[in-house]
Amino acid sequence: MRKPLSGFMEETYKMKKIVIKFGGSNLKTKEDVTRIIRVISHYQTEVVIVVSALYGVTDILTKTIEDVPRAQEAVGHIKTSLMEMHRRIVTWYIDDRDYNKSVIKKIKERIDKLEHYLLGVHYLGETPDFVRDVVLSYGERLSSLLLTAILNYKGIACEEVLPEQLGLLTNGEYGNAVVDFAAAEKNLQEHLSAPKRFIVPGFYGISPGSRVTLLGRGGSDYSAAAIGRCIDAASVDLWKDVDGFMSADPRIVDKAVSIKSLTYREAAELSYFGAQILHPRTFGPLLDKQIPLRLFNIERVAPAAKPTPPLRGTPPLEGTSR
Ligand code: ASP
Ligand code: MG
Repeated sequence: MRKPLSGFMEETYKMKKIVIKFGGSNLKTKEDVTRIIRVISHYQTEVVIVVSALYGVTDILTKTIEDVPRAQEAVGHIKTSLMEMHRRIVTWYIDDRDYNKSVIKKIKERIDKLEHYLLGVHYLGETPDFVRDVVLSYGERLSSLLLTAILNYKGIACEEVLPEQLGLLTNGEYGNAVVDFAAAEKNLQEHLSAPKRFIVPGFYGISPGSRVTLLGRGGSDYSAAAIGRCIDAASVDLWKDVDGFMSADPRIVDKAVSIKSLTYREAAELSYFGAQILHPRTFGPLLDKQIPLRLFNIERVAPAAKPTPPLRGTPPLEGTSR
């Protein structure tokens, strides 16, 4: 799967962007954000960054949406915990008082919008599908806001852009939509071609009727692949906290080793049959355009202090294999 990149589009490569994705397991501890900053500053090519929710947040939202039709206090509880989780990270990284305050304010505003939906659900006494999808998209909406603020503060200029602003159109199926590439491609090319570093919340797209539609649990891998395909990215790089695909489940087989490269088909099969590393639909969008998908273990990222040579078409860092 990590297609060898030697001689890989040396010339055109420079003009293409790379899509990089960070998952919830990369958004847990204080060190995680430091690592993300380190990873991003290694890339010499323009990147589009896709993020999933902070670790555990989608689960909390799922639980809340189950409780809230009966129990209004669930709204207050989730507001408090989301505020705390995000505030803590802001405070770790942003020590300027005014900037800190303005970021917390934006996060609070976003959480207030979520509150409106949740109260709506409570008063209705049930959860329509379209509201459920909006509510669950809030994990990603919050993490992308948070990461954008921290990166800008750290001098890594970037701009948040939401799937509804991009026109990331889907087939409209709630909970488990697929991207409508014929409809989305032009929109994304238009929006993402500017020479900027963009941050996009993963996990959802927009239906033809402008509703939020989730791309299935673990769907931000698929978001990254879909965006990569729409903009014909040089590669789609998924940053995880594990060593890529293994020859067997390492919890069961002692001598499992990581696999250096796989065809799209092999990787898709492994994903369908239980390798839990990737959303199984991640490969489809990449296949037609033969866009390489690369998996990296964020725990192996080289320290930023080490000067890195320009990348010029080679993988940004040593990959996942040992
Ligand atoms: N946050 C979503 C989930 O947990 C999407 C993702 O993590 O990729 O399913
Ligand atoms: Mg997640």
